[in-house]
Amino acid sequence: MTDQRTDVLISEVGPRDGLQSIGTIMPLAAKKAWIAAEAAAGVTEIEVGSFVPPKLLPQLADTAEVVAFAKTIPGLTVAVLVPNARGAEAAIAAGADKITLPLSVSETHSLANLRRTHAQVIDEARTIAALIAALPADRRPHFEGSLSTAFGCTLEGAIPDAQIARLAESLMTAGCDEVGLSDTTGFADPSAVRRLIRLVRGVAGDAALTGIHLHNTRGLGLANVLAALDCGLTTFDASLGGLGGCPFAPGASGNIVTEDLAFMLEAMGLRTGIDLDRLTAVRTIVADALPGEPLYGFLPDAGLPLGFRPATSLAA
Ligand code: ZN
Repeated sequence: MTDQRTDVLISEVGPRDGLQSIGTIMPLAAKKAWIAAEAAAGVTEIEVGSFVPPKLLPQLADTAEVVAFAKTIPGLTVAVLVPNARGAEAAIAAGADKITLPLSVSETHSLANLRRTHAQVIDEARTIAALIAALPADRRPHFEGSLSTAFGCTLEGAIPDAQIARLAESLMTAGCDEVGLSDTTGFADPSAVRRLIRLVRGVAGDAALTGIHLHNTRGLGLANVLAALDCGLTTFDASLGGLGGCPFAPGASGNIVTEDLAFMLEAMGLRTGIDLDRLTAVRTIVADALPGEPLYGFLPDAGLPLGFRPATSLAA
């Protein structure tokens, strides 16, 4: 969801996707400082955590407190991930603005990851939609079903398009406000991005798909963004410093790098609302809190080109 002053929405997922993929536990104070600084740099949506049992992901055990803090930042959409309806209850109680339920289109991955079949995850989606519908209209979080491993699974390989289409349709029928495409494994390429966007829109409608979650595991992250942009998608998940890496590919970066993504979009004349210098400065907070953890990105090393004029400041 972009406002009138922006053309594209960058959704920062580092505090969730980045932190869940590394062993070090970031202290609550550092998470707060990170989120506040990134919001101050102009980022308007941040996925701040995940409501999973602390035993499974101790890195995200303080998600309720992080949400409570993030909610004090004016204009920030506070997003969280939930694995099931119980997590959604906690997310609603904490006051999250946006709830994402991942549905792995690979059933093997779904069983390995969430210990649930596709039918069971769709049931959870239905329960979550009912929980949300029971809230007063002004307190209802936005509810997204995310088609994870959509571009391929490390256990099953390629997933048939018909299966992806059926699951997208099932999520919408279950009551999701929209579905998202998620390249959990970094298998995507620009052609596959175009094909799956067309596929999902064909069954769920254009309005049901606005965002994509991409990783840069094999270096195609920004190329994949371009393909999705050409198809008209407007929301892109990214992680500051590409934090998180990839458990399946040692040495590879995690999500696409927020700094590089914002630079590319601004250079193309697309307003992100983000100040690139202030965004890059946020890396210090993350680096100090996670000593030894690699941060990725080209813009922070190379700096802005001489005479660079970002789209966002031209509009100001
Ligand atoms: Zn991810």
